[in-house]
Amino acid sequence: MMTNWQSVPFTNVKIDDAFWRPRLEVLRKVTIKACLAQCESTGRIANFAKAAGLVEGEFEGIYFNDSDVYKVLEGAAYLLMSHRDPELEAEVDRIIDLIAAAQEPDGYLCTYFTLVAPESKWTDMEKHEMYNGGHLIEAAVAYHEATGKRKLLDTACRLADHYDSVFGPGKRHWVEGHEEIELALMKLYRATREERYRKLALWLLEERGRGHGKGAIWDKEEWGPAYCQDDVPVRNIEKVTGHAVRAMYLYTAMADAVRVSGDPAYVGALQRVWAHTVERNMYVTGGIGPSRHNEGFTHDYDLPNETAYCETCAAIAMVLWNHRMNLLFGDAKYADVVEREMYNGALAGISLSGDKFFYVNPLASRGDHHRVEWFGTSCCPTNLARYLPSIGQYAYARTDDGLAVNQYIGGEAEFEVAGGLRVKLKTTANYPWDGRIELAVNPERPGRFAIRLRVPGWCKGYKLKIGGESLGEAEALTDRGYVVLDREWSPGDAVALELEMPVEIVRARAEVEADRGRIAVQRGPVVYCAEQADNPDLAYDAFALAVREPLLVRDRPDLLGGVTVLTGQTADGKPCRLIPYYAWDNREEGFMQVWIREASHPSLYLF
Ligand code: ZN
Repeated sequence: MMTNWQSVPFTNVKIDDAFWRPRLEVLRKVTIKACLAQCESTGRIANFAKAAGLVEGEFEGIYFNDSDVYKVLEGAAYLLMSHRDPELEAEVDRIIDLIAAAQEPDGYLCTYFTLVAPESKWTDMEKHEMYNGGHLIEAAVAYHEATGKRKLLDTACRLADHYDSVFGPGKRHWVEGHEEIELALMKLYRATREERYRKLALWLLEERGRGHGKGAIWDKEEWGPAYCQDDVPVRNIEKVTGHAVRAMYLYTAMADAVRVSGDPAYVGALQRVWAHTVERNMYVTGGIGPSRHNEGFTHDYDLPNETAYCETCAAIAMVLWNHRMNLLFGDAKYADVVEREMYNGALAGISLSGDKFFYVNPLASRGDHHRVEWFGTSCCPTNLARYLPSIGQYAYARTDDGLAVNQYIGGEAEFEVAGGLRVKLKTTANYPWDGRIELAVNPERPGRFAIRLRVPGWCKGYKLKIGGESLGEAEALTDRGYVVLDREWSPGDAVALELEMPVEIVRARAEVEADRGRIAVQRGPVVYCAEQADNPDLAYDAFALAVREPLLVRDRPDLLGGVTVLTGQTADGKPCRLIPYYAWDNREEGFMQVWIREASHPSLYLF
């Protein structure tokens, strides 16, 4: 069943809590500036000036480097939407002038081909020509919305029109080797209402799996078409395959397509591939794509810990896809995945200082894996730079009969519910450390609508009060993971939700070889790990956690930007402290483990 809920833009969501607000401050003060400086010093920005003929010089870097500049501009646009900053805006305008100048007269824009191989345009579908273009489109839509300025949007439209003139029914075939253009064209369609962008997006989706792919991916025996999801027509997809980020961007675009087409074949494919991804190929941290070899998927339940690839971009892309699935189907299980990424897989990608990044996110390390300031292929830092400033968009959704609270982020939000009634909602919470959430509901006048509160998949019990009156679990209707409060609301109504948040011991399915005899520890949405900095006396290969001893919960506002730590005991009675996985590698070097050997596990006695 489809619901077609509406997204609530992050500009309607004012974040004011102890967890996210400081992170957004760091992003504004450090991350965006650091990424812009890296784009400058690595020649990524200069490539546009060179392609425009404004300066002399050769192309620097890799053929997809334009996309990093676009992604940082998209992030800057999101920052400008909630925080005017004339200096940042002037810098973005300067870069936009260079981008527009680099566009060729027919609309083509990809500085690598302009500068290095103009005769080889559109010959190798792996070369990210439309991938770059897709990120330009996303940046352009964001910057237009932020400032009302059209220059980048006009550049993006000329580029999309160029694609439309070369490719499409009766024109050339194209299977973009790295998906992104499809979801971007859907975004451009929503921003401009130009039907041709929507049609081109749907056509590009339908091109896949029909033997049209050509280039390095298809020539490489160990990759082949499955690497970029070109092995079957998208409506027939059964299993997640290939490169993880490419797969997630594809499914994201398919979910966008369903919103306009309602195509039941796409709905079926999305639901099959979601189950296959989440139930058999996702780590407890939300990480996906175990293998470095293809930056992607291998076989079911292949989830090694030390060698886990788990690209940060793939975790972010899971958020993009699952957010859309939640809107499409009105089911909290998709928002559960968004939450898992928000507090674990995606968040681990950035240091607390905001200027160091992981590309690869293993679940165990002997102490030799560390965040760095930048990468040759720097997709992950620049993805974080656009994901984090727009994170408020995942908190709420507008439903047919009211609103849904998907993520418990402190602050204020404003909606218009059905019938045009304006509602302000104030959320007070110390999430993810505490399960108590207070909502102040303020409709402009009394009115009936439904508020859906997500009961997270990890939560086994909750208490609910409305205006101080307890509501038994039997009295509140639940629907697809939400408790539904459908009633007459008046200004000043108060809702208190208390989610039970005990320490949970997680065991993997028996099929997951890497985790046999091991446990992971989760409290609320936060997955924990043991890091050497807290456990100097323990040896990576030798310790086991005594799960019969209770793990004690301790708030440590002074540690790692403010965290709740867990303390327990090893098999031989030594203290063991666990910290949130996202916060590892922010102190001195050392080992880290998410899946920890279990002291009482029978396999210890077998050998
Ligand atoms: Zn990446």
